[in-house]
Amino acid sequence: FLALTAAGGLFVGLICYRLLGRPSSPRTILRRALEAKQFEPFLQPIVDACDGRWVGAEVLMRWRLPGEGLIRPDLFIPMAERTGLILPMTRDLMQQVAAVLAPHAADLPPHCHLGFNISAAHCRDPQLLDDCRSFLAAFPPGSIELWLELTERELIEPTEESDQLFQQLSAIGVKVAIDDFGIGHASLNYLQRFKVDALKIDQSFVQHIGADTLSGHLLDTLVELATRLDIDLVAEGVETKAQLDYLQALGIPYLQGYLFGRPMPAHEFMPALHQHRNA
Ligand code: C2E
Ligand code: CA
Ligand code: CA
Ligand code: CA
Repeated sequence: FLALTAAGGLFVGLICYRLLGRPSSPRTILRRALEAKQFEPFLQPIVDACDGRWVGAEVLMRWRLPGEGLIRPDLFIPMAERTGLILPMTRDLMQQVAAVLAPHAADLPPHCHLGFNISAAHCRDPQLLDDCRSFLAAFPPGSIELWLELTERELIEPTEESDQLFQQLSAIGVKVAIDDFGIGHASLNYLQRFKVDALKIDQSFVQHIGADTLSGHLLDTLVELATRLDIDLVAEGVETKAQLDYLQALGIPYLQGYLFGRPMPAHEFMPALHQHRNA
């Protein structure tokens, strides 16, 4: 993780140098990119494990950098987090997704899950509540479910403020998922305190299906834990039919991965959904 963060910083630094011909602060570059509307939402379908129906999507950020193409989030999100720009960047992403999908609300799957990745800084930002309200208000009541994915790699310290924020989010119907679950250190206590609604099982466990028995045991344990706590499970990074069969047999309700669909530009989501339904 540290290596990735360092690489991300270096990358943004290099971009700064190339674009401006002189070293410029990463914050300035990211802020200009935001003003120039260079951050775009890509959507990846989340499917019902039983029948493969699309139940929603995860929103993944991309940086469309002129002359460079699409930049992966690993390369700029760490810097966006460090400079605090992740807050306005996520707000902008939510507005873009609402603008593209809300006009087609009637065609979305029922209670369509729309998941955004949030960072630890969001949990200290009271404006997150307003951003979520605005997002929900763009859609007819009940047509979508807004999910926030909080990575297990950077769990926040629970404070009175964060407790209050999560209570308010829950009161307006926002759901919380712990992302990359299994590689961090979330305790049972933590899951209960934040009233987590779902766990997203880290891709590494899915990739090791069939290769080692430890991942298998871990998946069994996760299913047991989720059942006991009455929370949903999503397995990510599903690429093969063998992985699908295994996860289905385990009773994991929701799946995501290249086998079902790659992340696509937001405006391609509705056409892809229609095509999938008619297939
Ligand atoms: P993540 O939240 O764990 O997202 C899942 C990543 O797995 C995505 O990478 C997705 O493209 C990739 N993926 C999906 N299906 C498969 C598969 O079948 N096989 C493989 N090998 N990979 C698959 P992506 O889009 O490059 O995003 C990387 C990470 O960047 C995300 O991991 C998330 O932590 C972060 N990120 C992306 N967008 C945002 C954002 O808007 N805000 C924040 N804070 N973080 C974001
Ligand atoms: Ca995620
Ligand atoms: Ca994940
Ligand atoms: Ca990840």
